[in-house]
Amino acid sequence: MPGADFRANSIKALADPQLRANFRRAMDGLMSRRAALFAEGQDWAPLRALGAAAKLNALANLPALLEQLEAKLVGLGVQVHWAGTIEEGNAIVKSILARRGAKLVVKGKSMVSEEMHLNHALEAEGIEVLEADLGEYIIQLDHETPSHIIMPAIHKNKKQIAKLMFEKIKNAQYSEDVDALTALARTVLREKFETAHAGISGVNFAVAETGTLVLVENEGNGRMCTTVPPVHIAIMGLEKVVERLDQVPALLNLLTRSATGQPVTTYINMITGPRRPGEKDGPEEMHLVILDNGRSRIFADPELRDTLRCIRCGACMNHCPVYVRVGGHAYSGVYPGPIGKILLPQTLGIAAAGDLPHASALCEACTEICPVGIPIGDLLVRLRREGARAGSGPIPVKGAGSRATLLESLIWRGWRAVYTTPALNRWMLWAVTRFGRLLPASMPGLARWTSVRAKPVFGRRSLHELAARGGIRGE
Ligand code: SF4
Repeated sequence: MPGADFRANSIKALADPQLRANFRRAMDGLMSRRAALFAEGQDWAPLRALGAAAKLNALANLPALLEQLEAKLVGLGVQVHWAGTIEEGNAIVKSILARRGAKLVVKGKSMVSEEMHLNHALEAEGIEVLEADLGEYIIQLDHETPSHIIMPAIHKNKKQIAKLMFEKIKNAQYSEDVDALTALARTVLREKFETAHAGISGVNFAVAETGTLVLVENEGNGRMCTTVPPVHIAIMGLEKVVERLDQVPALLNLLTRSATGQPVTTYINMITGPRRPGEKDGPEEMHLVILDNGRSRIFADPELRDTLRCIRCGACMNHCPVYVRVGGHAYSGVYPGPIGKILLPQTLGIAAAGDLPHASALCEACTEICPVGIPIGDLLVRLRREGARAGSGPIPVKGAGSRATLLESLIWRGWRAVYTTPALNRWMLWAVTRFGRLLPASMPGLARWTSVRAKPVFGRRSLHELAARGGIRGE
C-alpha cells in the first residue's frame, strides 16, 4: 500500500550502496545544473512571484477557469471528459480506445497516467501500451514505477541500463555507449509510433483563455505521441489550468530551470485541437480527460489548497535530505519526495500514507527551493496534526485521526488539560518535583520515545553529585 511501507522500504534502500551512489551522483548533477541557472546574487524573486501569482490566480478562480477551458476546447474540436476518480478516468480512456478499436497505444511522459495506473488498466483490456519517454521506456522494460517525477529511471546507472536493454530488447547488441542505447530505443519506438492507433500525453499547463495545452519535453516523443497516431488523448489533473497565455512564459521559465537546469526545453508543444481541414498532420480526433481524484477536496481547504500550486518540477526532491538517501521507490506512491509527502496523504488518505509527513526533518529545504512558493513545511505540520486527530482543519482529510492510538489520544488530551488549566498545572508541577523519580524509565505507549531517551535526573542529589565531580561550581 503506498506510503504504508515507507519505513521498511527506506531501511532496504539505505542498505543498498549502489542505489545510494546512483542517487547521490544524479542529484548532485541536477542540483549543480539548477544552481548554475539560478546564480548566486541574481534576484529570482520577481520571476518566482510571477509564477506563484499565476498559480494563485488560477486557484482563486478554478471552477470558472475550468469551465472556460472546456468551452474553448470544445470550440476547437476537442472532446472534454471529467473524471471524478481514477476508475472513471480509466473507464473514459478505455471507452475511447474501444470505440476506435485501438490495440496499440504510445504514451508520452505523464505523472497523472501513473497516478491512474493507466498502463495496467489498458493492458488488462488486451491493449499494448508503449512508454515513449526514454526514462519511462527503461523502467517499463524492468516493470518498475518512476523513482523521480522528472527522471523516472534516475535510480539506474549506465551499466544497469545497458544490461537491461541487452536482455529485454530482441536482437540488441550489448553497449554502454549512451548514444548507441538511445539509438536502440529509438529504433523500437519509431516502429510503434508509425503503427500506434492512439497516443496519450500529459499536460503541463492548460490555458483557459485560448484552449492551448502546453507540453514540454526534450526528446520529441511527446510530439510524436500527440501528432502521429489518429487519436490523441491528453490527461491532466484539474489544477493544471491557468488563466492566460501571457502567464505561461514565467511558469515555463521556472519549470525548466528548476526541473533540469535548462533555460528552455528542446520542445515546447502548444496544442490547440485536432487536425483541421487542409492540414497535413495532427490527429483526426482529440480528447482531454480532466482528473479530480481528491483535488476538489484539497481545493476546498484554504490551507491545503496550496498543494495544487505544484508545477511538478521535482526540485524539492533533488534538495530533500530524505529523498536523496532513500530514493523514490521508498515512498511506494507515484509522487515521491516532499510533494508526495503532502499530496499522497490527501489523495490516498492518512491511513494509507500518513507516515509520509513524518519522513521529514522539517529543514524546509523544499520550501526554500520550490519555484512557486508552496509552504511545504507548514503543510507537513498540518498533515501530521491531521494524522493525530480529525478536525485539524475546515475540511476533514480522508482518514484523519487514524494514526492516533486510543492511549496516545488520552495522553495528549491529558497533556492539553494540564497546560490549559492553571490549577491542574500547579498540582502537576508539585507532584512531578516530588514524585518524578518514581516514574519508570520506559512507559507503555511512549516506548518509542522513552527507549531512546535517558530520563532526565531531577533533584538536588544529582547537582551535588555533579559538583563533587567538578561539573558545576558555587553550591
Ligand atoms: S512542490 Fe514545488 S519544488 Fe516540489 S515539484 Fe512541486 S513545484 Fe516543484
